[in-house]
This record gives sequence, C-alpha cells and structure tokens, in this order.
Amino acid sequence: ESKAAGRNAVRFFDPALQERALLRVALQREMRHGLRAGEFVLHGQPIVDEHGRVRGQEALLRWLHPVRGLVSPMQFIPLAEESGFILPLGQWVLQRACELLAAWANDPHRCSWTLAVNLSARQLRQADLVQTVRTALKASGADPRRLKLELTESQLLHDVEDTISKMEALAEMGVQFALDDFGTGYSSLAYLKRLPLAQLKIDRTFVRDVLDDPNDAAIARTILQLAASLDLSVVAEGVETAAQFDTLRAMGCRLFQGYHFGRPAPL
Ligand code: C2E
Ligand code: MG
Ligand code: MG
Ligand code: MG
Repeated sequence: ESKAAGRNAVRFFDPALQERALLRVALQREMRHGLRAGEFVLHGQPIVDEHGRVRGQEALLRWLHPVRGLVSPMQFIPLAEESGFILPLGQWVLQRACELLAAWANDPHRCSWTLAVNLSARQLRQADLVQTVRTALKASGADPRRLKLELTESQLLHDVEDTISKMEALAEMGVQFALDDFGTGYSSLAYLKRLPLAQLKIDRTFVRDVLDDPNDAAIARTILQLAASLDLSVVAEGVETAAQFDTLRAMGCRLFQGYHFGRPAPL
C-alpha cells in the first residue's frame, strides 16, 4: 500500500512544473519592483506606407530585468494579466505613449505619426478605462487622433455591449482602434460593422507564406477586400522580405510592419 502511494507521489511530483510555478511567482513579484525601478521601456516598430515612408509606430513593451536580461512580453504580459498587474503596467504604457506623442508634435519629421498601443483584455474590462486614457491624453497634451489602440478579436467577444460603449466613448475623443492579429480569431461581418474600428492588422502567420501558400494569399486578399468594403485601413504584420512587401502591395495593401522595414527599437 505504501509502495502504491509512493508511486502516486512520484507521479505527481514534476520538477519542471514546480520550477515553472516558482518562476511565475518570482516574475510576478519582480514585475512590481521593476515598474518602480524603471526597468520597463517602450520600444517602437515603424509602420510604413507603400513607398516605405514611416507613418507611425507600434509601441512594444520591453522588460530589461537586471539579472534575467530582456524578458519577452510574450512571457510577462500573460503573467501580468493573471495577477492584475497589467492595470498599473498598462496605465504606465498609456502615459509613456501619450508623452511620446506630445513630444513628436514638435518634431517636423514625426508630427504626423500615429502611435499604436496594445490593450490587454483585462484593461478593456476595467471600468475606468475611458477615464485612464482621457487622463493620459490630458496630462501630456497629446492629440487623441494620433493614438491608436490595438485589440484582438478574442478580447472583443467578451461582454460585447460594454466593449462597444467604451470604444465609442474613446472614438468620440478621436482615438482610433485597430484589430490586431486579424484572421486568427473569430469575427462575423455584421459584428465588425458595429465596432468603431479604423484598421485591421493581417496576422503575420498569413504574411509569412503569402508567396508559397495559395490559402494564405487568399486569406490576405479576402481581408483586404473585407476592409475596403467596411472602409477600414489594413496593416500587414510581420513583413520580412521585399517579395512579401511587393506581393501584398500588388494585392492593394497600403500599410506594412515587419523586420523588412525595421525591428522594434528604443523610442
Ligand atoms: P503584437 O501586438 O502582434 O506585436 C507584434 C509582434 O510581432 C512583436 O513582438 C514584434 O516584435 C513582432 N514582429 C514584428 N515584425 C516581425 C517580423 O517581421 N517577423 C517576426 N517573426 N516578428 C515580428 P513582441 O514585441 O515580442 O510582442 C509580442 C506581443 O506582446 C505583442 O504582439 C502584443 O500582443 C504583446 N505586447 C507587447 N507590448 C504590449 C503592451 O504594452 N501591452 C500589452 N497589453 N501587450 C503588449
Ligand atoms: Mg499589436
Ligand atoms: Mg500584431
Ligand atoms: Mg501578432
């Protein structure tokens, strides 16, 4: 009997799993310290037009951990969502982004750029999101029309009416909305039409094989047609080669983002 219990105990003890759990707890604690210590920085990746001219940037958060080095947002954003720390962190991102926009307004090369900020699901469900954005804009003096907020399809499925009313309040201030990673989630046409959206971003999984995979090319073309009929602009994400750029441009895409034009870099 004790042997059987021992075997069960062994089966339940997974050192790799325990190590991951400890790492999560450590990272969640260190994130709170890191924000106070100034370890988070905003990088920007250019968004260019069909001539390759920069039209704006997407703000991408970076955590420069003093011991662990650069921690990817793919790693810390889900943890921050889980613990609720995404709310102060997201507020910091919005403040920094608006400060940057306000500084660009005095720079002849950057005054027409937009700055896109990623919003997490938790921020969208936050009751005072509209007030948080309004405060960041007011305190910095940034032009709301230059601020773009990126959401994903899956985020929008959550409490649709509440989401739409928040989006409408922000859109009335002039803030624009983009649907990120488009094509990887589920959206019905009728539903898209109800949202105050300005832009769709074709997910980079469709851009990657747009030259070789007829299905991906068809998806990219369909998104561009859909966007045209809904009067939305389109950004192709993850453009890494001139051939991808040319192909998407020939399909009618007018905005592009990816390593071919620039990697995320300090703003
Ligand atoms: P995203 O919003 O879809 O951002 C685009 C990601 O694709 C970025 O990864 C960017 O570095 C990467 N990328 C850009 N061009 C290329 C390319 O040509 N090839 C490839 N392979 N990748 C490319 P990053 O910076 O690691 O960010 C990952 C995700 O983390 C973002 O995906 C976004 O969902 C999230 N994230 C980043 N910053 C924030 C933030 O401030 N708040 C929130 N809530 N989420 C953020
Ligand atoms: Mg994004
Ligand atoms: Mg994206
Ligand atoms: Mg993406």
